[in-house]
Amino acid sequence: MKFQNVKEALEALKALEEKQWALSHAMNMIVYDAATAAPKNSAEGRGKTLGILSAYMYELIAAPENTEMLAYLRAHEAELSEEEKRRVALTEKNCQQISRIPQEEYTEYEMLLNDAQAVWEKAKNENDFPAFAPYLEKIVAFNRKFAGYYNPALPAYDALLNEYEEGMTMAVLDVFFEKLRTAIVPLLEKIRNAKPLNDDFLRRFYPAEKQKQCAEYLMEVLQIDRGYCGLAESEHPFTDNFNNKDVRITTHFYENNLTSALYSVIHEGGHAIYELACDDRYNQTAIAGGVSMGIHESQSRFFENIIGRSEAFIHAVYPKIKEFFPEQLADVTERDFYEAVNRAEPSLIRTEADELTYCLHIMIRYELEKQLIAGELSVSELPEKWNRLYLEYLGVEVPNDTMGCLQDTHWSGGSFGYFPSYALGSAYGAQMLHFMKKDLPNMEEKILSGDLSDIKRWLGEHIHRHASLYQPSVLFEKACGPFDPSYYVEYLTEKFTKLYKL
Ligand code: ZN
Repeated sequence: MKFQNVKEALEALKALEEKQWALSHAMNMIVYDAATAAPKNSAEGRGKTLGILSAYMYELIAAPENTEMLAYLRAHEAELSEEEKRRVALTEKNCQQISRIPQEEYTEYEMLLNDAQAVWEKAKNENDFPAFAPYLEKIVAFNRKFAGYYNPALPAYDALLNEYEEGMTMAVLDVFFEKLRTAIVPLLEKIRNAKPLNDDFLRRFYPAEKQKQCAEYLMEVLQIDRGYCGLAESEHPFTDNFNNKDVRITTHFYENNLTSALYSVIHEGGHAIYELACDDRYNQTAIAGGVSMGIHESQSRFFENIIGRSEAFIHAVYPKIKEFFPEQLADVTERDFYEAVNRAEPSLIRTEADELTYCLHIMIRYELEKQLIAGELSVSELPEKWNRLYLEYLGVEVPNDTMGCLQDTHWSGGSFGYFPSYALGSAYGAQMLHFMKKDLPNMEEKILSGDLSDIKRWLGEHIHRHASLYQPSVLFEKACGPFDPSYYVEYLTEKFTKLYKL
């Protein structure tokens, strides 16, 4: 393919982007259906279809004419807009991603992960870490090697971090986690000696049917247009975005737990709000959709914790929640409810952790991953090190590996460098809150009245509409200056000191 001019090359780029979107739309829809609606014995046919569609995707992206087209556009960069340059850069990254790992190693790794998933599940159920250890050793070895393919100039773990949060480094994270540790570990110690908050009533019987109605009500409060956003049930809550006019979120209703589903709806709702507010102009281009894991989590955690667990928000929604469950909540005041959803208690399981202790769970994983990838910690030493860190940071004894280092699916899935984005997201959100308050002096009153429109407008203006146009750090800095974990530490300290009257 020879290009006469930039316009022609841009048309080829656009055609590639659109085909990619269409294929991933189809594949994501099949995966989404598998998690929500497909009958349980339907995996075989789906596997075949997905295999064929993935092969089409590979052919599409690995096609030699893409290299030619991207090289042409690179050579004519002076004639491209910022937006076009970013599209070229992101498409290039995508194309290189496929060719950067030798095909036979990639296949071997995929097979390893496939086996590791089943072995991990069994090992977790049977508390048998030694059964999983040889697989984890191989996964770690592959990741160390792949890091060299991704970016040989970087330390291995930095190269892996970069896969989830473009530009993130251990240097930034070391400072971040150190700040968190020195502030939160002593704060938690004080909380342990303070009067505990009661949340027993959250485990009364709450019929799923009523919880569903309540979830719909919360979608209304979040001002999510149900014409563009589905809400379904799945084993684990997640968000899938097909495009900015079709986002699907899921939740799971537990009848002996009122807040699990409600807060997962607010969390996934935060992801949906981001995707739905991406500017139309980027649709079906490499720029469409949220920019990174960290920025995405900043949005979901902002709505879930900073807004959703605030006194003002509880004031706004509690009367209505009580209407759905008049008997269960008959003896529960607004204050009781606020305290219950913010109860901080060191625990063993990350996914059930509260707002304050959550980042300590992440910090432990960060330290372990860093050492595993650097070769400073062997897989056989992992359980012991895990347990020691849980005791040191959270003050809890880990009774077995099932509730310890086997609890998360990330490592068996080969995701090293992914965990930190959860904690980063929380910290990004706190810094956004600080700057948002400056721009919206009557933010508190608006939340008290249940009106989140100003907040959504602020986030839309500074974060959402830009989709993936800027690198995460650039987007973040434009919105609220260079990343500074002090905002998050201050936010947590202030909130929990007041809550527990420390
Ligand atoms: Zn999330």
